Amino acid sequence: MMPMKSLNNIQQNLAEIKARLSTISAQPITLVAVSKMQSIDCIQQAIAAGQLTFGENYLQEALPKIKALPDNLQWHFIGPVQSNKTKDIARHFSWVQTVDRAKIAEKLHEHRPAQLPPLNVLIQVNINDEPTKSGIAPAHVAELARVITALPHLKLRGLMAIPDAHQSEQALRHTFQSMFQLYQSLQDSYDIDTLSLGMTHDYLLAVAAGSTMVRIGTGIFGQRGRTHE
Ligand SMILES: *Cc1c(COP(=O)(O)O)cnc(C)c1O
Repeated sequence: MMPMKSLNNIQQNLAEIKARLSTISAQPITLVAVSKMQSIDCIQQAIAAGQLTFGENYLQEALPKIKALPDNLQWHFIGPVQSNKTKDIARHFSWVQTVDRAKIAEKLHEHRPAQLPPLNVLIQVNINDEPTKSGIAPAHVAELARVITALPHLKLRGLMAIPDAHQSEQALRHTFQSMFQLYQSLQDSYDIDTLSLGMTHDYLLAVAAGSTMVRIGTGIFGQRGRTHE
């Protein structure tokens, strides 16, 4: 009898996360594997387990990975977008989750090659009003949505947020609920389908509050900057 091939950690972690997601939500939840500071080898292990959607924060780190790996992968840009990086981001990613200014949206639109499908965009919301964090204030989201939907090389898909990490579970729950309400009110006016909330330590709470997309790094790959045998 053939011995069963044992799963490595990355494959096991992915399987566990997917199993948990399917227990807490009847809707399919998109899992973005955050591969920043993880090696190409680790990403290949995730691909071998069927994971095709990856998130990267830094353009310079992402480009060599995107070029080295198969082109059926879907890359999400999840870091702050500097305006001098918009050209490469618009060409090499299929989603940008961190649009928080009209100027950045306009530049991404301008640089998105016309032969590619529109770039999927999420508006990043500074939901806990943190002075050091990127994201637009909730009160200005509708205005930015109007700008983005007028740009044909962009497709507004929804909202994203990174909540303040130093809050109680109850406060975090409330934060996620506020994001869900904002998402629902935007849905009244726009055809959007994505609420990107939840990371390794809070994705179950996020999905319980209505998130449709989670971004998980260490929960899949382990600590960043380590290699896996
Ligand atoms: C790093 C990062 C993540 C993943 O964080 P983990 O805690 O490793 O799951 C998710 N979203 C964004 C925007 C990130 O920068």
